[in-house]
Amino acid sequence: MIISQLSRKNVQALTPYQSARRLGGHGDVWLNANEYPVSPDFDLTACLFNRYPDPQPAAVVKGYAAYAGVQPENVIVTRGGDESIELIIRAFCEPTDSVLYCPPTYGMYAVSAETCGIALKRVPLNADFQLELAEIEKQLDGVKVLFVCSPNNPTGNVVNRADLLRLLEMTRNRAIVVVDEAYIEFCPQASLVNELAHFPHLAIIRTLSKAFALAGLRCGFTLANAELIGVLQKVIAPYPLPVPVSDIAAQALSEQGIAEMKMRVNTVLANRTALIAEFAGLACVEKIFATESNYVLVKFEDGEKVFNALWEQGIILRDQHNAPGLANCIRITVGTEAENRKVIAAIRALV
Ligand SMILES: *Cc1c(COP(=O)(O)O)cnc(C)c1O
Repeated sequence: MIISQLSRKNVQALTPYQSARRLGGHGDVWLNANEYPVSPDFDLTACLFNRYPDPQPAAVVKGYAAYAGVQPENVIVTRGGDESIELIIRAFCEPTDSVLYCPPTYGMYAVSAETCGIALKRVPLNADFQLELAEIEKQLDGVKVLFVCSPNNPTGNVVNRADLLRLLEMTRNRAIVVVDEAYIEFCPQASLVNELAHFPHLAIIRTLSKAFALAGLRCGFTLANAELIGVLQKVIAPYPLPVPVSDIAAQALSEQGIAEMKMRVNTVLANRTALIAEFAGLACVEKIFATESNYVLVKFEDGEKVFNALWEQGIILRDQHNAPGLANCIRITVGTEAENRKVIAAIRALV
């Protein structure tokens, strides 16, 4: 009790991120965290652990830079994309600044800002889940960091490129625009990576947790111009990446690792098409939202009933009931063909 009261006021008030793992559940079909449904196979090749690791392991930085089409000076490796989010807030926000984000979107932008004691400005996405640029422009005073997620989690759509470019223009010399591309491998043509040359205040977040099938590894990246990367290098922990993590990450970023990732993406896209076709035939489905990612947002007549019934059967989905504008919506990760069949069969059996 006393100890809690010693913690910072914003931490006392904080509702921690409701991660898929924290929410729990029991079963054998896990479609609530946008993971790849099967693990890739890696062996550790590094076996010396007595020394501290390279703070920014060269093989990982070079491998990711080559894959992303940037120079190594444009890359910082972090403990998952989640660490990138917090690093950017910590490095750029004074206590009097604010962070702007556009719900419904990924929950960690708000949680990280609240943890750091930084005020939040919310400018909800419009009915098509696109940016409200005029409203954002009105709210820009005091905003130091803006987060946009594309493809957006949990809705699945890509944010219009022209809107992102206008956002970058209106924030030039004022704020950092973070574009979260955690799912970009499922629609690589939508990446803003080629815009880094034009916008020194653009930061792109990436991860090995989704298409690379390595959520358990905890490895992510920020891509940006060298000056911005240099700022993040000042505040990151001295040895963020354990030796086994960088060992496996380097293998995942080899030519073969990237070829395998692309095959996984093709598998997900094919299974997604099949899953969506099945949903379209279910009477209790009100809407299937367009997706460019490895998950599908579906609106049901009674979302709570579907979520709870499947939860009881060990099919764990991600309820979006409490997200603004997403009543009766459930986010469903594309699983294996067998898992997807189980989802459809379980929903069909509900009637
Ligand atoms: C999964 C995810 C991340 C990062 O996840 P890490 O596992 O920390 O790399 C970042 N943003 C969004 C939108 C995500 O869905």
